Amino acid sequence: MEFSSKLLERAVNEMSQLPGIGKRTALRLVLHLLRQPKEQTTALAEALQTMRLDVKFCKSCHNISDVELCEICSNPNRNAEVICVVEDIRDVMAIENTSSFKGVYHVLGGKISPMDGIGPHDLNIETLVNKVKQGTTKELIFALSSTMEGDTTNFYIYKQIQDYDVVTSTIARGISVGDELEYADEITLGRSIVNRVPFEASLKS
Ligand SMILES: [Zn+2]
Repeated sequence: MEFSSKLLERAVNEMSQLPGIGKRTALRLVLHLLRQPKEQTTALAEALQTMRLDVKFCKSCHNISDVELCEICSNPNRNAEVICVVEDIRDVMAIENTSSFKGVYHVLGGKISPMDGIGPHDLNIETLVNKVKQGTTKELIFALSSTMEGDTTNFYIYKQIQDYDVVTSTIARGISVGDELEYADEITLGRSIVNRVPFEASLKS
């Protein structure tokens, strides 16, 4: 792609670093910004920069938050004894939308994937296991994707905590979970949380 302006080229190159944004789309977006009032671009740049610099991760559940302890963890009406284990914030958002879950979450930050070089220690697993060891957790609900990586991660965590007094369950299989959790319809997802099955039973199937 030949550019008449180095400034334009730089903006397009930066924009095209984003996933799913090729050079053509990047150019379209940048030209769109050029047609908008300057304040629009300033607001966009400022929002992105502030988000990147100031965003925090909840010290308890690792969810993205503006404060040290996220709104869910600090809500006295949530049952902190029931923890739903998810991959990332999109899963939290999807499950919250169902209004079917009144426990808290634990965001792993991904799943174990040797192919991608992601091991257990790259994820927020230790803090989860520690919560169980402290004895304040009654139930862990695995809500990871039904992929080999999701299963591996569930099983790894299960092995760490199976000797402790905690119930493990998994949300019903057959629905879209994990990467697709955010797209599963709310009724199906909500139902699968309510009708969760013991994790041990899912191992035998
Ligand atoms: Zn939290």
